[in-house]
Amino acid sequence: MRSLGSLRDMLPGSCVERQRACGRPNCHCADGKNLHSQFQISVLVDGKPMVFNVPAKLVGQVRRQVEMRHRFDAAAATVCGINLRRLLKQKQEL
Ligand SMILES: [Zn+2]
Repeated sequence: MRSLGSLRDMLPGSCVERQRACGRPNCHCADGKNLHSQFQISVLVDGKPMVFNVPAKLVGQVRRQVEMRHRFDAAAATVCGINLRRLLKQKQEL
């Protein structure tokens, strides 16, 4: 668990890359092929799916933070499994 780092660093949801046209007629994306990359984080906020744009500068950080959450979830599931087996053993020993 210690290798997980601080919980402050976790972000929910997933980081995705979308291709989009910016709408400017003179831009290279106007041909519909050379589109812009836009990174986004999609998350549930109060149960509602929301999408926020992520500036290119922050993509690396956001990816790491989302990955941290996945590692945390996996570690928590492992610990919970161990605790369940422990409980069942405790019960037998009553
Ligand atoms: Zn464009």
